[in-house]
Amino acid sequence: MKHYRTPGPEWCRRQWVSAEARALWAPRIQAITADWNAVECATVGACRQAAVLHVDPGQLAAFSAKVAERRLVLNVMAQVGAGPSYTSGTVAPDGGAFQYKVSIATSKAVSAQLASAWADKAQATVAELLGYPQCCAEFFAATWDEAEWHDTTWPMADGHQGADPHLAVADVNPGTNILLRWVGVRWFPHLPCSFECEHTAQ
Ligand SMILES: [Zn+2]
Repeated sequence: MKHYRTPGPEWCRRQWVSAEARALWAPRIQAITADWNAVECATVGACRQAAVLHVDPGQLAAFSAKVAERRLVLNVMAQVGAGPSYTSGTVAPDGGAFQYKVSIATSKAVSAQLASAWADKAQATVAELLGYPQCCAEFFAATWDEAEWHDTTWPMADGHQGADPHLAVADVNPGTNILLRWVGVRWFPHLPCSFECEHTAQ
C-alpha cells in the first residue's frame, strides 16, 4: 500500500448500521470512554511509573485534586485540539475546543524524565516509564515518528502477516485488537507492534 507522508486534514466520524444500534451502543461506548482516564490513573504506581492522558479543561482542577490525593505528580504537557471523535494530531488549538495533554507520575524525577524523553522522542525511555512493551516502542518510532504513519493499523497488520504481500489477518488475539480505538474503546494505552504482540496481550 502506498503511504503518503503529507496527508489531508484528519477526520474521523461514526456511522451506525441503524438507529437501534446507535441507541444501544452509543451510551455504552460513552461510558467506556469516560472511564478510560480512571483506568490509566489507577495503574500508575501499581504497575508503571507514569501515564499520559487527555483531560478536558473544565475537569482539570478536579483531576489535579485526585492526582494530589494519590501523591502523584501532574504535569501539563500541551494543549491539543479536541473534537467529537478520535484525533491523532497535536495541532495547537486555534480558538476551538481543546484538551490538556497531561502526564501523571510517581515522582518529580519521573515526571521530568518523561517530559524530556517525550520531547526528544526517546521512545524506549517513554515506553519504559509508561509501561509499554519495548517491541511496540521500536515499532512506534519506526512507523509513527520515522515513516509518519498516523494510523498504524496497516503496518501493524503487516507485522502480523510477515513477508506475504497479500494482507489477510486472521486469528487475531483480542488482547491486541486496536480497531475500536477510533471510537474510544481500547484495552491498553499504546499502539501494539502487531496483532500478535505477546507483550501487549499480557
Ligand atoms: Zn509489541
